[in-house]
Amino acid sequence: MNIFEKVLSKEQIFINEPMKKHTTFKIGGNADILILPYTLEQIIECIQICEQNNIEYYVIGNGSNLLVSDKGFRGVIIKLFKNFNKIELDKNIIKVQSGATLSAIAKKAYDNSLKGFEFASGIPGTIGGGVCMNAGAYGGELKDVIKQVTVLEDNKVTILNNKECEFEYRNSKILKNKLIVLEVLIELEQGNKDEILAKMKENNKIRNEKQPVEYPSAGSTFKRPPNNFAGKLIMEAGLAGKTIGGACISKKHCGFIINNGNATCEDVLELADFACKQVKDKFNINLEKEIRVIGES
Ligand SMILES: Cc1cc2nc3c(=O)[nH]c(=O)nc-3n(C[C@H](O)[C@H](O)[C@H](O)COP(=O)(O)OP(=O)(O)OC[C@H]3O[C@@H](n4cnc5c(N)ncnc54)[C@H](O)[C@@H]3O)c2cc1C
Repeated sequence: MNIFEKVLSKEQIFINEPMKKHTTFKIGGNADILILPYTLEQIIECIQICEQNNIEYYVIGNGSNLLVSDKGFRGVIIKLFKNFNKIELDKNIIKVQSGATLSAIAKKAYDNSLKGFEFASGIPGTIGGGVCMNAGAYGGELKDVIKQVTVLEDNKVTILNNKECEFEYRNSKILKNKLIVLEVLIELEQGNKDEILAKMKENNKIRNEKQPVEYPSAGSTFKRPPNNFAGKLIMEAGLAGKTIGGACISKKHCGFIINNGNATCEDVLELADFACKQVKDKFNINLEKEIRVIGES
């Protein structure tokens, strides 16, 4: 019997699970085990099992900012996504479980004439991943609308207010300290439904025009360097369309490395390192990866 069958049903446990099925990059070898907890109790008990048995674990949401090694992940991937994605409304506060997608939350906000979340409607992740990364677009960041985050810290449920999350550009205390996001309160303002819809449509139009959304990727490969743009620097370094194996620097947006169909993690890392070196040599600017890289090296 698998040790997780004490707390999860068989349908929630996946053995030797290909991580390419759980990342938007569609890259990654097998995880020893992937589990899909549905409740807070299951999350806590599964983590206890990992710790008691000295098993490495890693929490993911939609895998939209994730690059997993070709050799996969030795340990347990805890995926907080469907079935841990409840969205509830209390006046202008939206209470969500961490597996809720940003697009589903944006829809709830729109349905209830709440403004302030339009910027996030096209970001393809969960609120759990979004809060960790302080995801943002079109002048907005999650830190602008987060009231409170319930996390699991050392197996204790703790509530952090906005300030205590220590949000930074694509970073937070939650990411740095590897806390687990369980539930989030989002505070929005009453707005005009037509205006909310128009803003979401406009943002998504720009996104579809400017980003290579038709290819698998993990979004922007690099963070924005101070007062500059990674995509612009990579383009000016002459790297649009540069390909290594199945990984390619998108001609549509040089800030994105895309998977042409058969890219490996190694291809992506080699191409990212090449772009970094070229940008450093040409402009003396260091690029830092935004995508999270995990798994056996
Ligand atoms: C086409 C495309 C466009 C994108 N556009 C944008 C954009 O405009 N702006 C932007 O900011 N990002 C963008 N991204 C990146 C990505 O969508 C965001 O970073 C998103 O917030 C990641 O959420 P996720 O659920 O997929 O997280 P994952 O990729 O699963 O995980 C990302 C990180 O969060 C951690 N994490 C996930 N869930 C939890 C949890 N419940 N508790 C603790 N830690 C957790 C993981 O351990 C990992 O470190 C884009 C990606 C793609 C593919």
